[in-house]
Amino acid sequence: MKNKDASTSTDLPLAKISSAESLLVAAGRDRRPGAPLNRPPVPASNFILGTERAYSRDDGTPTWEALEEIVGLLEGGHTVAFSSGMAGVAAVFDQLRVGAQVVLPDDCYQGVVGLAELGNQKGLWSLRRLAVDDTAGWVRACTDADLIWLESPSNPLLTVADVRTICSATRKPSALLAIDNTFATSLNQRPLDLGADVSFQSATKFIGGHSDLLAGVVTVRRDDLRAALRRSRELNGATPGALESFLAVRGARTMALRLERAQANAMILAERLHAHPRVALVRYPGLSSHPTHSVARDQLKGFGTIISFDVRGEAAAADKVCSRVSLIHHATSLGAVESTIERRAGIPGQEHLPPSLLRLSVGIENVEELWEDLAAALRDE
Ligand SMILES: *Cc1c(COP(=O)(O)O)cnc(C)c1O
Repeated sequence: MKNKDASTSTDLPLAKISSAESLLVAAGRDRRPGAPLNRPPVPASNFILGTERAYSRDDGTPTWEALEEIVGLLEGGHTVAFSSGMAGVAAVFDQLRVGAQVVLPDDCYQGVVGLAELGNQKGLWSLRRLAVDDTAGWVRACTDADLIWLESPSNPLLTVADVRTICSATRKPSALLAIDNTFATSLNQRPLDLGADVSFQSATKFIGGHSDLLAGVVTVRRDDLRAALRRSRELNGATPGALESFLAVRGARTMALRLERAQANAMILAERLHAHPRVALVRYPGLSSHPTHSVARDQLKGFGTIISFDVRGEAAAADKVCSRVSLIHHATSLGAVESTIERRAGIPGQEHLPPSLLRLSVGIENVEELWEDLAAALRDE
């Protein structure tokens, strides 16, 4: 469906802007004289009839569209915004016919696994899991799968899939290859350019960036797919909130700066953790010791802000680290300005992980103070 405001990108000089940093700031605005410089939250269910916009669940709102325009331009496609990341994931699974074959990575966001398992139990589709780095396995799976869902880097083991090779494998014309781009973000990876049909991100994480909203974005190039995703949003009522969309746009404005700082912090912390005697193993795609470092270097513009590391000793040793940090918050989720740490095997459905694995989402704080906090929490006694 067409955008409904005279203020959208097609009328604007946005086409001349190619850098992500400038697009994040310039896109999603109404440039007509007298318009507010920032698109306000529009808490409207319905609109005065006479244009294509009648009811927001069907036709969207200017606030959602600001978010959709920004992400769409960043990823080179059309974006549909949802009430949460999982609502966006569900809309992608909604495209499947009964009896479809779904392939998921062995290391994958637990909500996506839960959704896929539920559909499998109900007999809607069959489900297979593949190791993230089993490139040959994924290439083979492409020949008969209907939905190939990749997550790269993966959560929480941070394995990088060879997305380019997998995307170039022959797949059924009706198949969808989707990439969960939440950990990489549109700034480090553009899945549609790599050959994916669908790029998904939880906007709750880096786009929002402040742990104060839930939203999801799904980006595609095909018009029919975009229409089908919008139809799914409409019929399932998976609509983003007005305030959440406003906050997600506000977050997007500073995303490049936040990512740059947090990513630089993460590299420094990963190296120091790697050298720390109380740390058994660090998983960070930027370290040359990381098993998929060379693919990461080739495929990603940056290595991201998430580090997983195993503390020497059992679960209790890792729990102790979480209880001792003070600048870093003991909390779940990721991609925000504040650093958070969590023991992942403590979470239902994640028992396959090493018991002492901690996932650290590095924020934008002073890196020396972050390190002091971590080093103090890792002390022996
Ligand atoms: C958070 C997350 C999701 C789900 O998004 P919500 O906004 O929490 O619904 C999906 N995939 C990944 C990798 C995530 O981190």
